[in-house]
Amino acid sequence: MTGKPTPMMQQYHRLKAEAEGCLLFYRMGDFFELFFDDARQAAAILDIALTTRGEHGGEAVPMCGVPVHAAEGYLARLIKAGCRVAIAEQVETPEEAKERARREGSPVSKALVKRDIVRFVTAGTLTEEALLEPRRANVLAAVCEVRGALGVASVDISTGRMELESTATNNLGAALARLGASEIVVPEGWFEAPDAAFQRPRSDFASEAGERRLKTVHDVATLDAFGDFDRAMLAAAGGLIAYLDHVGRGNLPLLLPPVARSGERHLAMDEATRTSLEILVSQQGSRQGSLVAAIDRCSTGAGARLLAEDLSAPLCDRDAIAQRLQLVQWLYDDPLLRADLRQVLRALPDIGRALGRIVAGRGSPRDLGQIRDGLAEARRIRDVLATKPDRPELLERLLPAMGGHGALVDHLQRALVPSPPTERQNGGFVAEGYDAALDALRLVSGNARRAIAALEGKYRGETGIAALKIRHNGVLGYFIEVPARHADALMAPDSGFTHRQTMAGAVRFNSLSLHEEAGRIGEAGGRGIAAEEAHFEELVGEVVATRETIAAAAAALARIDVAAGQAERAAEGGWCRPEIVEHACLEIVDGRHPVVEAALASSGARFVANDCRLSPDDRLWLIGGPNMGGKSTFLRQNALIVLLAQAGGFVPASAATIGLVDRLFSRVGASDNLARGRSTFMVEMVETAAILAQATTRSFVILDEVGRGTSTYDGLALAWAVVEAVHETNRSRCLFATHYHELSRLAESCDALSLHHVRAREWKGDLVLLHELAEGPADRSYGLAVAKLAGVPKPVVARAKSVLDRLEKGRAETGGIAAGLGDLPLFATAFAAEPETSDGLRERLAALDLDALSPREALDLLYELKREA
Ligand code: ADP
Repeated sequence: MTGKPTPMMQQYHRLKAEAEGCLLFYRMGDFFELFFDDARQAAAILDIALTTRGEHGGEAVPMCGVPVHAAEGYLARLIKAGCRVAIAEQVETPEEAKERARREGSPVSKALVKRDIVRFVTAGTLTEEALLEPRRANVLAAVCEVRGALGVASVDISTGRMELESTATNNLGAALARLGASEIVVPEGWFEAPDAAFQRPRSDFASEAGERRLKTVHDVATLDAFGDFDRAMLAAAGGLIAYLDHVGRGNLPLLLPPVARSGERHLAMDEATRTSLEILVSQQGSRQGSLVAAIDRCSTGAGARLLAEDLSAPLCDRDAIAQRLQLVQWLYDDPLLRADLRQVLRALPDIGRALGRIVAGRGSPRDLGQIRDGLAEARRIRDVLATKPDRPELLERLLPAMGGHGALVDHLQRALVPSPPTERQNGGFVAEGYDAALDALRLVSGNARRAIAALEGKYRGETGIAALKIRHNGVLGYFIEVPARHADALMAPDSGFTHRQTMAGAVRFNSLSLHEEAGRIGEAGGRGIAAEEAHFEELVGEVVATRETIAAAAAALARIDVAAGQAERAAEGGWCRPEIVEHACLEIVDGRHPVVEAALASSGARFVANDCRLSPDDRLWLIGGPNMGGKSTFLRQNALIVLLAQAGGFVPASAATIGLVDRLFSRVGASDNLARGRSTFMVEMVETAAILAQATTRSFVILDEVGRGTSTYDGLALAWAVVEAVHETNRSRCLFATHYHELSRLAESCDALSLHHVRAREWKGDLVLLHELAEGPADRSYGLAVAKLAGVPKPVVARAKSVLDRLEKGRAETGGIAAGLGDLPLFATAFAAEPETSDGLRERLAALDLDALSPREALDLLYELKREA
């Protein structure tokens, strides 16, 4: 027989259904409990005991639980493991539940407290300090497609920064790679959605609703003041806000006015480029070893987050870059000011995130204290900076945002104690002297406490029991306690004491005077807490009302911190200010790779600086030389220097002149890139195809051993054709590393291509890698020497040597694998000579009257043309 589920189980199942696939944290007293599969999953992830409780359908119900006071830590681990959690709280006390049962006429002993899901905790919607990494933004993105355009809305709800972007649908990967979102929501059933995305109702992603929601949030009649937003952007914004509304159960977090993002203002980089340049995370998946880790000298978490954003979206606008550089230079030139500034910034609280918690309704007195201290400090910093001469333009624009909060700061200073607690239910955060009535209440409880202390002495004297104590606990309140052997004297009916509880070795009593004093404390305490609560709400209201200017102050401080950090990094590493110009050159003197250099320095080795000099007439460098010779490092260091410069920072070189780059591409031959599902060679070719399709004369391309992922002949042939295409068609600046000697023959036909190699020398039979770039083709490959260096057994190397001798002899006789290339026509001619197969199509297209076609006819025609093509 299976019994009917208990009322509690019924309630549980109702909430679980509402939780929409999230783990359900079901509050029971001091614990959050999980049941059934949730319990199994959570117990495994958290490594906590799985027990059972009662039965359901004839089977024991699996259960595990976490204490409420330690829930944050457990939540953090579940979220990290990719879970989403719904929190079901008790929304009435057991007493209220009993009272309700009594009113409803149901059995009071079985009264079940009401529970509701009060919020969802998901990776993209965290605000808790403990669950967030201070130096990393936490981004939630909503993505959808509207009539062939892709809308991307993103927000870091811990600070409220919101951005809307509309882009081509084939840019999905690049857009998401730039954002590095920790959670993505998409409309249900969207075919192109990224794998890990969470589906939401399609109706949430309607552009009209999105527009309406944005207007409501910001209380404006039109969005014009914020920027130009198209349908795709608004639809994505709609999906984003609807999701936040759902997750917060109607409580929206801090949302600042959205910023429209335009691709043209930023240096474009696709996902493969970002991954290969290890901008924010290394190939190992950690921050350590990434570019940002090697650059970051920010003093604040907000600065570090902004730096990461700068590096993810470098600029494409000379003026804007120059402004950032000017501020870095200003701080670079004044080491004393910089040191003072950085020290002050280090003590600055994270105003942006405190504000995020307050607006989300999860703020604490401590968060108010942080806003107070942060804004006060912002103003002091402004006052100091405003006295300095020759202030850069960007600074002049930032300074006003850092003041103007005088009244709020003053109010918070008067209202709050110096270091307010994180909990607010116990009060104690409102400063003395702020509210006379509260002070009076506190005086009453203070006096009563002193009276109680005095009572203890008095009772000891009267009873002669030196061990008598007045104590307090949560259940009894105040009570008098004596060891059991003295209890009899107090038990007497006329003693003035009333018995309350008998313990193992002690007996507890009450007395009239104690009862009265305790009552005073209780009442005054309760009214005091209510008064503090009211002050808290009022202060929160004031902060919420000025949220945008507070956020602006936080943003200004972050920008200054980034500049100070960049200046510090530059001073530390002897870096230079790059000059950004319009023509397509790239002249780097003594360039270095910041990450490799730091890694070498930690093992005491020295980095060899190298120059790069690309210009319109010498725009493609083919770089040969032995494995491990430093080719990849050289390629990447130049890409990173471009990226750093356009992000508005100094660069690791002694001089750098950089022609503004519109798109940056970095590709690594397949065999370095194994951990992928698709055939690695396929990936290599897909990525290469993207370059050939998108790179322009203003782009910078680095190609590392492209063509390596297939057989020698195929690989060489493809590498050859790709170099030619980049040279002739894309005409981008390009560094191409290869181990195919045969490619050096391209120098004969491509006039803007030159040959270079990383130097190596064999010394007493050993290979010495000099990591130095030199002109001209590589003389030989040194593959066997590298093998020996790597510890391949001597007999194997010797055998390889004799095989190689035979091969080389054969090559000398036949002219080598490139023997047939002698009379290959030039790429451009070859291309032009391709027979035109599509002429018929062209004519038919030209003859079409598009306006006269119905959509249906157009579609039919497309099918027809496709069949013929
Ligand atoms: P390749 O691409 O030619 O195989 P890498 O660029 O991967 O070579 O470099 C191999 C190693 O050589 C690097 O990990 C680094 O330790 C060292 N190296 C590279 N470039 C330099 C340099 N300029 N100065 C000093 N060491 C370098």
